[in-house]
Amino acid sequence: ATPTALLVGTGRGSQLGILIRGPQVLEQTRRVDTIVLDKTGTVTSGVMSVTEVHPAEGVARDELLATAAAVEAASEHPVARAVAAASPVAWPDAEAFASHAGFGVQAVVNGSAVVCGRPSWLREQWSVPIPPATAALLADLETRGTVVAVARDGGYLGAIVVADTVKPTSAAAVARFRALGLEPVLLTGDNAVTARRVAGEVGIDTVHAGVSPAEKLDVVRALRSDGRVVAMVGDGVNDAAALAAADLGLAMGGGTDAAIAASDITIVSGDLLVVADAIRLARRTLGTIK
Ligand code: ADP
Ligand code: MG
Repeated sequence: ATPTALLVGTGRGSQLGILIRGPQVLEQTRRVDTIVLDKTGTVTSGVMSVTEVHPAEGVARDELLATAAAVEAASEHPVARAVAAASPVAWPDAEAFASHAGFGVQAVVNGSAVVCGRPSWLREQWSVPIPPATAALLADLETRGTVVAVARDGGYLGAIVVADTVKPTSAAAVARFRALGLEPVLLTGDNAVTARRVAGEVGIDTVHAGVSPAEKLDVVRALRSDGRVVAMVGDGVNDAAALAAADLGLAMGGGTDAAIAASDITIVSGDLLVVADAIRLARRTLGTIK
């Protein structure tokens, strides 16, 4: 999977919205036996919305939402869009914004350092003290969605839960992958409980959750050194390294430029059924369909 500038539509492929980097890509699809799927934006719609807001004691709900929105407004992550859209009040400007792919974001808001992201990241990377009762709450919230924990000047400010829905065609696509002889694997930076729930909904048994972008790359490499021929499907900046390392990288059309640049094939519609079509089409073109 070498990034080059140009994607081309080849005949039938372009009619289906399958953009292929070049004819050599078809050969790569022939022996693929494992398909690794990113969760957010690939198996799920990636359009998230806030479902629960839990301010810390003494913190007003609007203050938590506006503080988080101030930081998240600068991020393009689906989680960030949901948080920014949920603030009922105008948020202050943020300075010195920085994004940590697969973990969360940070910025300075009204002179205070604010971080928003995975609860474990706030605890381990930012040493935010989380009392046992709050830790229990966060663990419970993770059964219901993706949890954005918020801290200001090192103190815990509260948690916001965002949830996502599985794309309508994802389960049918997973069945199609199996019929093509591909073993599906779910790969996500999101928490294990949410990942398992989504995997169950679409019929995937193998799940790697809570993985950083670097660990996504490791999973793809490990599968390849086990002798698997790996297709990876993703949409995010966090997927780019894994997409480039796979035998065949497929980007979702609505995804980030980084994912598209790292991939061999772009699926314009972002529909996983079309990923199955792309693999079938390539095999048929080479006369090797099973
Ligand atoms: P996925 O692998 O499912 O596409 P990511 O690797 O992009 O997910 O993100 C992994 C996790 O990191 C998210 O589920 C979320 O908990 C956290 N995260 C990523 N970006 C942000 C953000 N902008 N704000 C808050 N949390 C974030
Ligand atoms: Mg994604």
